[in-house]
Amino acid sequence: MDLALSPQDEAFRDEVRRFLDQNLSEDLREAGRKTAGVFAEFEAGQRWHKVLAKRGWSAPNWPKEYGGTGWSATQRYIFSRECTATDAPRIFAMGLRMVGPVIMKFGTPEQKAKYLPRIVAGDIVFCQGYSEPGSGSDLASLKTRAVVDGDDYVINGTKIWTTGAHVADHMFCLVRTSTEGKPQDGISFVLIDSMTTPGLSVKPIVTLAGDHEVNQVFFDNVRTPVANRIGPENAGWTVAKYLLEFERGGDAYTPNLHARLEDVRRIAREEAADGAGRLLGERGFAERLAEAEMEIQALEMIEMQVLSDLSKGKNPGTVSSQMKIRGSETLQKIDHLGVEALAWYAAPFEPEARLLGHNEPTVVPEAGLTAAPLYLNNRASTIYAGSNEIQRNIIAKAALGL
Ligand SMILES: Cc1cc2nc3c(=O)[nH]c(=O)nc-3n(C[C@H](O)[C@H](O)[C@H](O)COP(=O)(O)OP(=O)(O)OC[C@H]3O[C@@H](n4cnc5c(N)ncnc54)[C@H](O)[C@@H]3O)c2cc1C
Repeated sequence: MDLALSPQDEAFRDEVRRFLDQNLSEDLREAGRKTAGVFAEFEAGQRWHKVLAKRGWSAPNWPKEYGGTGWSATQRYIFSRECTATDAPRIFAMGLRMVGPVIMKFGTPEQKAKYLPRIVAGDIVFCQGYSEPGSGSDLASLKTRAVVDGDDYVINGTKIWTTGAHVADHMFCLVRTSTEGKPQDGISFVLIDSMTTPGLSVKPIVTLAGDHEVNQVFFDNVRTPVANRIGPENAGWTVAKYLLEFERGGDAYTPNLHARLEDVRRIAREEAADGAGRLLGERGFAERLAEAEMEIQALEMIEMQVLSDLSKGKNPGTVSSQMKIRGSETLQKIDHLGVEALAWYAAPFEPEARLLGHNEPTVVPEAGLTAAPLYLNNRASTIYAGSNEIQRNIIAKAALGL
Protein backbone atom coordinates (compact mmCIF):
# COMPACT_ATOMS: atom_id res chain seq x y z
CA MET A 1 0.00 0.00 0.00
CA ASP A 2 1.31 3.43 -0.92
CA LEU A 3 1.59 5.55 2.19
CA ALA A 4 2.71 8.70 0.37
CA LEU A 5 0.10 11.39 0.94
CA SER A 6 -1.89 12.77 -1.95
CA PRO A 7 -2.24 16.59 -2.18
CA GLN A 8 -5.80 16.19 -0.78
CA ASP A 9 -4.49 14.18 2.17
CA GLU A 10 -1.79 16.77 2.79
CA ALA A 11 -4.45 19.48 2.82
CA PHE A 12 -6.46 17.39 5.27
CA ARG A 13 -3.41 16.93 7.50
CA ASP A 14 -2.87 20.70 7.52
CA GLU A 15 -6.51 21.22 8.45
CA VAL A 16 -6.13 18.77 11.36
CA ARG A 17 -2.93 20.52 12.48
CA ARG A 18 -4.67 23.89 12.45
CA PHE A 19 -7.57 22.50 14.42
CA LEU A 20 -5.23 20.96 17.03
CA ASP A 21 -3.25 24.19 17.28
CA GLN A 22 -6.41 26.13 18.01
CA ASN A 23 -8.32 23.66 20.17
CA LEU A 24 -5.91 21.39 22.00
CA SER A 25 -5.17 23.57 25.02
CA GLU A 26 -1.95 23.26 27.03
CA ASP A 27 -3.71 21.64 29.99
CA LEU A 28 -5.23 18.99 27.70
CA ARG A 29 -1.78 18.29 26.25
CA GLU A 30 -0.34 18.07 29.74
CA ALA A 31 -3.03 15.55 30.67
CA GLY A 32 -2.16 13.53 27.57
CA ARG A 33 1.53 13.49 28.48
CA LYS A 34 0.90 12.49 32.06
CA THR A 35 -1.51 9.66 31.30
CA ALA A 36 0.18 6.36 31.86
CA GLY A 37 -2.80 4.07 31.88
CA VAL A 38 -6.01 3.91 29.97
CA PHE A 39 -7.33 7.16 31.40
CA ALA A 40 -5.51 8.60 34.39
CA GLU A 41 -7.02 11.93 33.37
CA PHE A 42 -10.57 10.82 32.61
CA GLU A 43 -12.06 14.29 32.92
CA ALA A 44 -9.58 15.73 30.38
CA GLY A 45 -10.46 12.94 27.94
CA GLN A 46 -14.13 13.81 28.34
CA ARG A 47 -13.47 17.49 27.68
CA TRP A 48 -11.50 16.58 24.56
CA HIS A 49 -14.31 14.31 23.39
CA LYS A 50 -16.73 17.26 23.60
CA VAL A 51 -14.36 19.55 21.67
CA LEU A 52 -14.09 16.93 18.91
CA ALA A 53 -17.85 16.35 18.92
CA LYS A 54 -18.47 20.06 18.40
CA ARG A 55 -16.30 19.89 15.26
CA GLY A 56 -18.05 16.64 14.16
CA TRP A 57 -14.81 14.66 14.62
CA SER A 58 -15.48 12.50 17.67
CA ALA A 59 -16.34 9.29 15.77
CA PRO A 60 -13.78 8.93 12.97
CA ASN A 61 -14.58 5.23 12.51
CA TRP A 62 -18.35 5.56 12.30
CA PRO A 63 -20.42 5.95 9.14
CA LYS A 64 -21.72 9.44 8.49
CA GLU A 65 -25.37 8.45 8.95
CA TYR A 66 -24.68 7.78 12.65
CA GLY A 67 -22.66 10.92 13.30
CA GLY A 68 -19.28 9.66 12.03
CA THR A 69 -16.88 11.64 9.89
CA GLY A 70 -17.10 9.69 6.65
CA TRP A 71 -13.29 9.96 6.39
CA SER A 72 -11.21 7.61 4.27
CA ALA A 73 -8.87 5.14 5.97
CA THR A 74 -5.90 7.40 5.24
CA GLN A 75 -7.63 10.42 6.73
CA ARG A 76 -8.47 8.51 9.90
CA TYR A 77 -4.90 7.40 10.20
CA ILE A 78 -3.59 10.92 9.65
CA PHE A 79 -5.96 12.21 12.32
CA SER A 80 -4.80 9.59 14.80
CA ARG A 81 -1.11 10.27 14.10
CA GLU A 82 -1.55 14.03 14.52
CA CYS A 83 -3.50 13.60 17.78
CA THR A 84 -0.94 11.27 19.39
CA ALA A 85 1.99 13.38 18.15
CA THR A 86 0.53 16.44 19.90
CA ASP A 87 -0.29 14.61 23.17
CA ALA A 88 -4.07 14.78 22.84
CA PRO A 89 -5.55 13.04 25.88
CA ARG A 90 -6.89 9.57 25.37
CA ILE A 91 -10.65 9.24 25.26
CA PHE A 92 -12.20 6.40 27.23
CA ALA A 93 -13.93 5.07 24.15
CA MET A 94 -15.81 1.88 25.00
CA GLY A 95 -18.94 3.50 23.57
CA LEU A 96 -17.30 4.73 20.38
CA ARG A 97 -15.09 1.72 19.76
CA MET A 98 -17.07 -1.20 21.09
CA VAL A 99 -20.75 -0.97 21.90
CA GLY A 100 -21.49 1.67 19.24
CA PRO A 101 -20.65 -0.62 16.29
CA VAL A 102 -22.60 -3.41 18.01
CA ILE A 103 -25.73 -1.26 18.36
CA MET A 104 -25.38 -0.23 14.71
CA LYS A 105 -25.33 -3.86 13.63
CA PHE A 106 -27.71 -5.59 16.06
CA GLY A 107 -29.75 -2.78 17.67
CA THR A 108 -33.37 -1.91 16.94
CA PRO A 109 -34.16 1.52 15.43
CA GLU A 110 -35.27 2.66 18.92
CA GLN A 111 -31.99 1.51 20.48
CA LYS A 112 -29.97 3.25 17.76
CA ALA A 113 -31.87 6.49 18.28
CA LYS A 114 -31.54 6.25 22.06
CA TYR A 115 -27.80 5.53 22.37
CA LEU A 116 -25.80 6.40 19.25
CA PRO A 117 -26.19 10.21 19.23
CA ARG A 118 -25.33 10.38 22.93
CA ILE A 119 -22.22 8.22 22.45
CA VAL A 120 -21.00 10.47 19.62
CA ALA A 121 -21.65 13.59 21.70
CA GLY A 122 -19.75 12.18 24.69
CA ASP A 123 -22.86 12.50 26.87
CA ILE A 124 -22.79 8.89 28.06
CA VAL A 125 -19.86 6.70 29.06
CA PHE A 126 -19.97 2.91 28.84
CA CYS A 127 -17.94 0.26 30.65
CA GLN A 128 -17.65 -3.38 29.67
CA GLY A 129 -19.03 -6.16 31.87
CA TYR A 130 -17.71 -9.33 30.24
CA SER A 131 -15.13 -10.97 32.57
CA GLU A 132 -15.99 -12.65 35.86
CA PRO A 133 -13.85 -14.31 38.51
CA GLY A 134 -13.23 -17.71 36.85
CA SER A 135 -14.52 -16.59 33.42
CA GLY A 136 -11.89 -14.61 31.55
CA SER A 137 -10.37 -16.58 28.69
CA ASP A 138 -13.16 -19.10 29.14
CA LEU A 139 -15.73 -16.34 28.85
CA ALA A 140 -18.61 -18.60 27.81
CA SER A 141 -18.60 -20.13 31.30
CA LEU A 142 -19.89 -16.84 32.78
CA LYS A 143 -22.44 -17.20 35.56
CA THR A 144 -24.00 -13.77 36.17
CA ARG A 145 -27.66 -14.67 35.92
CA ALA A 146 -30.51 -12.63 34.44
CA VAL A 147 -34.10 -13.77 34.98
CA VAL A 148 -37.14 -12.12 33.40
CA ASP A 149 -39.57 -10.50 35.84
CA GLY A 150 -42.33 -8.51 34.11
CA ASP A 151 -40.69 -6.03 31.72
CA ASP A 152 -37.29 -6.36 33.38
CA TYR A 153 -34.35 -8.68 33.74
CA VAL A 154 -33.26 -9.15 37.35
CA ILE A 155 -29.50 -9.63 37.47
CA ASN A 156 -27.39 -11.33 40.16
CA GLY A 157 -23.68 -12.09 40.12
CA THR A 158 -20.38 -10.26 39.69
CA LYS A 159 -18.08 -8.89 37.00
CA ILE A 160 -14.37 -8.25 37.48
CA TRP A 161 -11.57 -6.14 35.92
CA THR A 162 -14.27 -3.73 34.76
CA THR A 163 -12.23 -0.81 33.45
CA GLY A 164 -13.78 2.55 34.28
CA ALA A 165 -16.85 1.22 36.12
CA HIS A 166 -16.25 3.98 38.68
CA VAL A 167 -16.45 6.76 36.07
CA ALA A 168 -18.93 5.27 33.59
CA ASP A 169 -22.67 5.85 33.75
CA HIS A 170 -23.67 2.92 31.49
CA MET A 171 -22.57 -0.68 31.17
CA PHE A 172 -22.84 -3.29 28.44
CA CYS A 173 -22.96 -6.66 29.96
CA LEU A 174 -23.05 -10.38 29.18
CA VAL A 175 -25.52 -12.31 31.32
CA ARG A 176 -26.69 -15.90 31.48
CA THR A 177 -30.31 -16.20 30.46
CA SER A 178 -30.36 -19.98 30.02
CA THR A 179 -28.51 -22.96 31.45
CA GLU A 180 -29.75 -25.34 28.74
CA GLY A 181 -27.46 -26.69 26.02
CA LYS A 182 -23.95 -25.38 25.28
CA PRO A 183 -22.74 -22.53 27.56
CA GLN A 184 -22.48 -20.22 24.51
CA ASP A 185 -26.17 -20.74 23.77
CA GLY A 186 -27.49 -19.28 27.02
CA ILE A 187 -25.91 -15.82 26.99
CA SER A 188 -27.59 -12.46 26.31
CA PHE A 189 -26.13 -8.99 25.75
CA VAL A 190 -27.84 -6.28 27.82
CA LEU A 191 -27.32 -2.60 28.53
CA ILE A 192 -27.60 -1.05 31.97
CA ASP A 193 -28.58 2.61 31.84
CA SER A 194 -27.19 3.76 35.16
CA MET A 195 -24.27 2.68 37.32
CA THR A 196 -26.28 3.85 40.32
CA THR A 197 -29.14 1.40 39.65
CA PRO A 198 -30.22 -0.02 43.05
CA GLY A 199 -28.32 -3.22 43.91
CA LEU A 200 -25.30 -2.37 41.73
CA SER A 201 -22.04 -1.67 43.56
CA VAL A 202 -18.48 -0.97 42.37
CA LYS A 203 -15.37 -1.92 44.34
CA PRO A 204 -11.98 -0.50 43.23
CA ILE A 205 -8.96 -2.62 42.31
CA VAL A 206 -5.71 -0.60 42.38
CA THR A 207 -3.17 -1.85 39.85
CA LEU A 208 0.58 -2.43 40.06
CA ALA A 209 1.18 1.08 38.65
CA GLY A 210 -0.81 2.64 41.51
CA ASP A 211 -3.75 3.60 39.28
CA HIS A 212 -7.42 3.03 39.97
CA GLU A 213 -8.70 1.94 36.59
CA VAL A 214 -10.29 -1.45 37.13
CA ASN A 215 -13.01 -2.62 39.47
CA GLN A 216 -15.15 -5.48 40.62
CA VAL A 217 -18.87 -4.90 40.07
CA PHE A 218 -21.54 -6.67 42.12
CA PHE A 219 -25.18 -7.22 41.09
CA ASP A 220 -27.73 -7.81 43.79
CA ASN A 221 -31.17 -8.00 42.14
CA VAL A 222 -30.27 -5.25 39.65
CA ARG A 223 -33.13 -4.51 37.25
CA THR A 224 -32.70 -3.53 33.61
CA PRO A 225 -35.51 -3.42 31.03
CA VAL A 226 -35.83 -6.40 28.66
CA ALA A 227 -36.00 -3.69 25.97
CA ASN A 228 -32.31 -3.02 26.72
CA ARG A 229 -31.26 -6.39 25.32
CA ILE A 230 -29.25 -6.11 22.09
CA GLY A 231 -30.14 -8.94 19.69
CA PRO A 232 -32.36 -11.93 20.50
CA GLU A 233 -32.36 -13.62 23.91
CA ASN A 234 -29.64 -16.30 24.18
CA ALA A 235 -27.91 -14.97 21.04
CA GLY A 236 -25.52 -12.76 23.05
CA TRP A 237 -22.46 -14.82 22.16
CA THR A 238 -22.65 -13.76 18.52
CA VAL A 239 -23.01 -10.13 19.60
CA ALA A 240 -20.14 -10.49 22.11
CA LYS A 241 -17.76 -11.94 19.53
CA TYR A 242 -18.55 -9.20 17.02
CA LEU A 243 -17.74 -6.60 19.67
CA LEU A 244 -14.43 -8.30 20.49
CA GLU A 245 -13.22 -7.86 16.92
CA PHE A 246 -13.64 -4.11 17.38
CA GLU A 247 -12.02 -4.20 20.82
CA ARG A 248 -8.92 -5.84 19.32
CA GLY A 249 -8.81 -4.41 15.83
CA GLY A 250 -11.20 -1.49 15.55
CA ASP A 251 -8.49 1.09 15.88
CA ALA A 252 -4.86 1.47 14.92
CA TYR A 253 -2.14 0.78 17.49
CA THR A 254 0.66 2.38 15.50
CA PRO A 255 -0.08 6.11 15.96
CA ASN A 256 0.48 5.63 19.69
CA LEU A 257 3.50 3.36 19.09
CA HIS A 258 5.11 5.96 16.81
CA ALA A 259 4.57 8.68 19.41
CA ARG A 260 5.95 6.53 22.23
CA LEU A 261 9.00 5.57 20.17
CA GLU A 262 9.68 9.23 19.46
CA ASP A 263 9.54 9.91 23.22
CA VAL A 264 12.12 7.21 23.85
CA ARG A 265 14.34 8.46 21.03
CA ARG A 266 14.21 11.98 22.48
CA ILE A 267 15.17 10.70 25.94
CA ALA A 268 18.00 8.63 24.47
CA ARG A 269 19.25 11.71 22.66
CA GLU A 270 19.36 13.65 25.92
CA GLU A 271 20.53 11.00 28.38
CA ALA A 272 24.11 9.80 28.62
CA ALA A 273 25.06 6.16 28.21
CA ASP A 274 27.48 4.59 30.69
CA GLY A 275 30.79 6.25 30.00
CA ALA A 276 30.89 8.92 27.35
CA GLY A 277 28.38 9.81 24.66
CA ARG A 278 24.63 9.90 24.26
CA LEU A 279 22.60 6.74 24.72
CA LEU A 280 21.28 7.09 21.17
CA GLY A 281 24.83 6.62 19.90
CA GLU A 282 25.22 3.38 21.84
CA ARG A 283 25.03 0.60 19.29
CA GLY A 284 23.05 -2.00 21.24
CA PHE A 285 20.40 0.52 22.25
CA ALA A 286 20.15 2.07 18.77
CA GLU A 287 19.69 -1.40 17.25
CA ARG A 288 16.82 -2.22 19.58
CA LEU A 289 15.17 1.12 18.78
CA ALA A 290 15.52 0.37 15.07
CA GLU A 291 14.02 -3.10 15.55
CA ALA A 292 11.02 -1.63 17.34
CA GLU A 293 10.61 0.90 14.55
CA MET A 294 10.60 -1.84 11.90
CA GLU A 295 7.95 -3.75 13.84
CA ILE A 296 5.80 -0.62 13.97
CA GLN A 297 6.17 -0.10 10.23
CA ALA A 298 5.18 -3.69 9.47
CA LEU A 299 2.12 -3.40 11.72
CA GLU A 300 1.25 -0.07 10.11
CA MET A 301 0.82 -1.82 6.74
CA ILE A 302 -1.66 -4.29 8.23
CA GLU A 303 -3.52 -1.54 10.03
CA MET A 304 -3.92 0.58 6.91
CA GLN A 305 -5.48 -2.42 5.19
CA VAL A 306 -7.86 -3.02 8.11
CA LEU A 307 -8.82 0.65 8.32
CA SER A 308 -9.55 0.59 4.64
CA ASP A 309 -11.79 -2.50 5.07
CA LEU A 310 -13.55 -0.87 8.02
CA SER A 311 -14.36 2.21 5.99
CA LYS A 312 -16.04 -0.08 3.43
CA GLY A 313 -18.25 -1.44 6.21
CA LYS A 314 -16.39 -4.75 6.73
CA ASN A 315 -15.59 -5.95 10.24
CA PRO A 316 -11.93 -6.67 11.04
CA GLY A 317 -12.11 -10.50 11.30
CA THR A 318 -9.21 -12.62 12.61
CA VAL A 319 -6.61 -10.07 11.54
CA SER A 320 -7.69 -8.19 14.68
CA SER A 321 -5.98 -10.97 16.70
CA GLN A 322 -2.76 -10.42 14.74
CA MET A 323 -2.96 -6.67 15.36
CA LYS A 324 -3.58 -7.19 19.05
CA ILE A 325 -0.55 -9.47 19.47
CA ARG A 326 1.83 -7.27 17.48
CA GLY A 327 0.54 -3.99 18.92
CA SER A 328 0.70 -5.07 22.57
CA GLU A 329 4.07 -6.82 22.33
CA THR A 330 5.72 -3.92 20.53
CA LEU A 331 4.27 -1.53 23.08
CA GLN A 332 5.87 -3.53 25.90
CA LYS A 333 9.25 -3.46 24.10
CA ILE A 334 9.07 0.33 23.79
CA ASP A 335 8.09 0.70 27.45
CA HIS A 336 11.10 -1.39 28.36
CA LEU A 337 13.40 0.83 26.29
CA GLY A 338 11.82 3.91 27.89
CA VAL A 339 12.56 2.72 31.42
CA GLU A 340 16.08 1.71 30.41
CA ALA A 341 16.74 5.08 28.76
CA LEU A 342 15.67 7.01 31.84
CA ALA A 343 17.62 4.71 34.15
CA TRP A 344 17.30 5.93 37.76
CA TYR A 345 14.95 8.76 36.75
CA ALA A 346 12.34 6.09 36.00
CA ALA A 347 12.51 4.72 39.54
CA PRO A 348 10.90 7.39 41.78
CA PHE A 349 7.22 6.82 42.34
CA GLU A 350 5.31 10.13 42.39
CA PRO A 351 1.69 9.41 41.48
CA GLU A 352 0.41 12.81 42.63
CA ALA A 353 2.88 14.58 40.30
CA ARG A 354 0.98 13.05 37.38
CA LEU A 355 -2.23 14.86 38.29
CA LEU A 356 -3.28 17.73 36.09
CA GLY A 357 -2.56 21.08 37.71
CA HIS A 358 0.12 19.67 40.02
CA ASN A 359 3.03 21.83 38.97
CA GLU A 360 5.28 21.50 42.01
CA PRO A 361 8.89 20.79 41.06
CA THR A 362 9.61 17.07 41.17
CA VAL A 363 12.92 15.23 41.35
CA VAL A 364 12.56 13.73 37.88
CA PRO A 365 12.11 15.06 34.33
CA GLU A 366 8.49 14.91 33.10
CA ALA A 367 9.06 11.73 31.07
CA GLY A 368 10.27 10.09 34.28
CA LEU A 369 6.84 10.54 35.82
CA THR A 370 5.21 8.15 33.39
CA ALA A 371 8.00 5.77 32.29
CA ALA A 372 7.60 3.26 35.12
CA PRO A 373 3.77 3.55 35.35
CA LEU A 374 3.55 3.02 31.57
CA TYR A 375 5.83 0.01 31.83
CA LEU A 376 3.78 -1.46 34.69
CA ASN A 377 0.36 -0.60 33.31
CA ASN A 378 1.08 -1.96 29.87
CA ARG A 379 2.10 -5.35 31.27
CA ALA A 380 -1.67 -5.88 31.18
CA SER A 381 -1.91 -5.16 27.44
CA THR A 382 -1.04 -8.76 26.57
CA ILE A 383 -3.81 -9.93 28.93
CA TYR A 384 -6.79 -7.63 28.40
CA ALA A 385 -9.01 -7.70 25.31
CA GLY A 386 -8.37 -11.47 25.35
CA SER A 387 -4.90 -12.70 26.29
CA ASN A 388 -2.30 -13.07 23.55
CA GLU A 389 -2.25 -16.85 24.03
CA ILE A 390 -5.96 -16.88 23.23
CA GLN A 391 -5.35 -14.68 20.16
CA ARG A 392 -2.78 -17.22 18.96
CA ASN A 393 -5.36 -19.98 19.42
CA ILE A 394 -7.84 -17.96 17.34
CA ILE A 395 -5.29 -17.50 14.54
CA ALA A 396 -4.40 -21.20 14.65
CA LYS A 397 -8.03 -22.28 14.39
CA ALA A 398 -9.84 -19.63 12.39
CA ALA A 399 -7.08 -18.33 10.10
CA LEU A 400 -4.77 -21.35 9.66
CA GLY A 401 -7.38 -24.09 10.10
CA LEU A 402 -5.14 -26.07 12.49
C1 LIG B 1 -6.00 -4.02 33.11
C2 LIG B 1 -7.12 -4.90 32.70
C3 LIG B 1 -8.30 -4.35 32.27
C4 LIG B 1 -9.39 -5.15 31.94
N1 LIG B 1 -10.57 -4.56 31.58
C5 LIG B 1 -11.67 -5.33 31.37
C6 LIG B 1 -12.95 -4.74 31.15
O1 LIG B 1 -13.09 -3.52 31.10
N2 LIG B 1 -14.02 -5.56 31.01
C7 LIG B 1 -13.92 -6.91 31.04
O2 LIG B 1 -14.94 -7.59 30.89
N3 LIG B 1 -12.72 -7.52 31.26
C8 LIG B 1 -11.61 -6.76 31.44
N4 LIG B 1 -10.38 -7.35 31.69
C9 LIG B 1 -10.32 -8.80 31.83
C10 LIG B 1 -9.55 -9.52 30.71
O3 LIG B 1 -10.32 -9.59 29.54
C11 LIG B 1 -9.16 -10.89 31.27
O4 LIG B 1 -8.22 -10.68 32.29
C12 LIG B 1 -8.57 -11.78 30.20
O5 LIG B 1 -9.55 -12.19 29.29
C13 LIG B 1 -7.89 -13.04 30.81
O6 LIG B 1 -8.78 -13.69 31.67
P1 LIG B 1 -8.35 -14.07 33.17
O7 LIG B 1 -7.79 -12.86 33.83
O8 LIG B 1 -9.53 -14.73 33.81
O9 LIG B 1 -7.16 -15.12 33.01
P2 LIG B 1 -7.30 -16.66 32.68
O10 LIG B 1 -8.34 -16.87 31.62
O11 LIG B 1 -7.45 -17.41 33.95
O12 LIG B 1 -5.88 -16.98 32.04
C14 LIG B 1 -4.70 -17.13 32.83
C15 LIG B 1 -3.54 -17.47 31.89
O13 LIG B 1 -3.79 -18.72 31.21
C16 LIG B 1 -3.72 -18.52 29.80
N5 LIG B 1 -4.76 -19.36 29.13
C17 LIG B 1 -6.05 -19.48 29.52
N6 LIG B 1 -6.70 -20.30 28.67
C18 LIG B 1 -5.81 -20.69 27.72
C19 LIG B 1 -5.90 -21.51 26.57
N7 LIG B 1 -7.03 -22.10 26.20
N8 LIG B 1 -4.76 -21.68 25.81
C20 LIG B 1 -3.59 -21.08 26.16
N9 LIG B 1 -3.46 -20.28 27.25
C21 LIG B 1 -4.56 -20.08 28.02
C22 LIG B 1 -4.00 -17.06 29.57
O14 LIG B 1 -3.42 -16.61 28.37
C23 LIG B 1 -3.35 -16.43 30.79
O15 LIG B 1 -1.97 -16.27 30.55
C24 LIG B 1 -9.28 -6.57 32.01
C25 LIG B 1 -8.06 -7.13 32.42
C26 LIG B 1 -7.00 -6.33 32.78
C27 LIG B 1 -5.73 -6.98 33.25
